[in-house]
Amino acid sequence: MMSPPPSDVAPSHAAPSGTGNPGGAVRVGVLALQGDVREHSRTIEALGGRAVPVRRPAELTSLDGLIIPGGESTTMDRLTRVFGLAGPLRELIGAGLPVYGSCAGMIMLSDVIADPSVDGLGEPQRSLGGLDMVVRRNAFGRQRESFETDLAFASLVGEEPVRAVFIRAPWVEKVGRGVEVLARVPVDEDTAVETVARIVAVRSGQLLATSFHPEITGERRIHELFIRMIRGEA
Ligand code: GLN
Repeated sequence: MMSPPPSDVAPSHAAPSGTGNPGGAVRVGVLALQGDVREHSRTIEALGGRAVPVRRPAELTSLDGLIIPGGESTTMDRLTRVFGLAGPLRELIGAGLPVYGSCAGMIMLSDVIADPSVDGLGEPQRSLGGLDMVVRRNAFGRQRESFETDLAFASLVGEEPVRAVFIRAPWVEKVGRGVEVLARVPVDEDTAVETVARIVAVRSGQLLATSFHPEITGERRIHELFIRMIRGEA
């Protein structure tokens, strides 16, 4: 099991993480209920890690970290509850397991969803939480349902911008004090005179989230950052 997170989660990120296997390959679970599981798994393996698909609670044991992929957060919410994963996942997040969420995964890690979808019974979708922030789903609007852009991204190895693909992506509307903003994207808002920079990547302690999908562009540095977080090197 992971050691508990430090009480002060930011900005030092000095969380002692442990693979329990120093120098060995990190075991990274990829939540495999839905979404772009294969792409994340390939990226982890390309970086020398072991990717482990997770579909049931027993598969959450002895992981060094976990990825929640992009997909559809409403479906993921429903399936994590149906498969009995929601409770164990919340516990692991609370206990300090390093978790990276991309797109729908970011929504799952957010404490608050600004505009949750509501099911037939009037129940709003739920997130797992962990990141002290408010996220807005499908935030870029119809014209920009999907787009690509180059972003400056803090904490990566190398200076080159990140090629980011956004697909019906969320943005982060508000962050708590312990949450570090790693990347923003400029957005022209209809009503705004000025362009607003929207938050699209964050970190807090052992949790990392991006609105976009690095796993589908061949960009490996964000997964590399995540592995360094797992190893306690970032
Ligand atoms: N719009 C999706 C949601 O609400 C996220 C899209 C994605 O993961 N590419 O979950």
